[in-house]
Amino acid sequence: MTQPITDQYDRPLRDLRISLTDRCNFRCGYCMPRALFGADHAFLPRRELLSFEEIARLAAVFSRIGVRKLRLTGGEPLLRRGLETLVEQLRGIPGIDDISLTTNASLLTREKAHALRAAGLDRITVSLDGIDDTTFQRMNDVGFPVARVLAGIDNAEAAGLGPIKINMVVQKGVNDHDIPAMAAHFRGTAHIVRFIEYMDVGNSNGWRYDHVVPSREVLDGIEARWPVEPLAPNERGEVASRYRYRDGGGEIGLISSVTQPFCGTCKRARLSAEGRLYTCLFASDGHDLRQRLREGGVTRSSTRR
Ligand code: SAM
Ligand code: SF4
Repeated sequence: MTQPITDQYDRPLRDLRISLTDRCNFRCGYCMPRALFGADHAFLPRRELLSFEEIARLAAVFSRIGVRKLRLTGGEPLLRRGLETLVEQLRGIPGIDDISLTTNASLLTREKAHALRAAGLDRITVSLDGIDDTTFQRMNDVGFPVARVLAGIDNAEAAGLGPIKINMVVQKGVNDHDIPAMAAHFRGTAHIVRFIEYMDVGNSNGWRYDHVVPSREVLDGIEARWPVEPLAPNERGEVASRYRYRDGGGEIGLISSVTQPFCGTCKRARLSAEGRLYTCLFASDGHDLRQRLREGGVTRSSTRR
């Protein structure tokens, strides 16, 4: 059997984020600003995306070198039709313990949530940058109402995909006023809101350090209203610092990618929609696995155990 792989800092590769598409139906300013991703933007043609079959073949190879968790992301992954077929294929790969999906939940109907769960999806993370409808619609920049995302969250919960992690990217002066309402909305549920520091992801999103709200400030604001206490990480290399409300109101998380980078314990790699492997979220150079696949470099026998 192939040995688990580690990098030069002895970090094992355990998690693989798989981007299923470069397209999205939202235009969040920090990710796909409308000025850069307008009507004339050239998204990848269909033939350049990895097929479900190709993704499953690569995932099988990654499981042989130690990957245990797969996260399906994008763009918006629910734009890929028949996503449950892929989940089913991934579920059958020996060694894969956990399959999760990160989505904006806009297309998460009751039927879709049930189909994904039945296919073997373990968990779901929903991105929601505000609970105030005006703020949220401004952030997604397509006028998508918050109520429909909340319905998607309910559908996921009803399908057995809860508790759900809810990611809020916090930008100073844009949605930071909505932090207390966001926390209040999900207090008393099993869902976990995670406040994420706004990052420079290299897409010319106009990132500036003074647009970042440090996690410490977010925590201080919450603590002033609802006292919290830290929780131990669920696992080594967990990106969120966990806290629970002292009154039993549930859990929150803080992801401090800017003020406290967690590169030292990173065990992730990402596969782009067109099949390039990046060993860092911020890397600009990736390895072209699609070419290897399509030239026959990753054969069925190399994916078999
Ligand atoms: N469309 C899906 C969604 O929004 O959940 C999946 C893809 S999205 C790129 C994955 C996550 O990255 C989302 O939670 C999003 O908020 C986060 N993200 C994107 N750009 C970011 C940035 N500049 N800073 C922090 N988080 C960011
Ligand atoms: Fe980016 Fe996700 Fe927002 Fe789409 S929904 S623009 S992929 S963060």
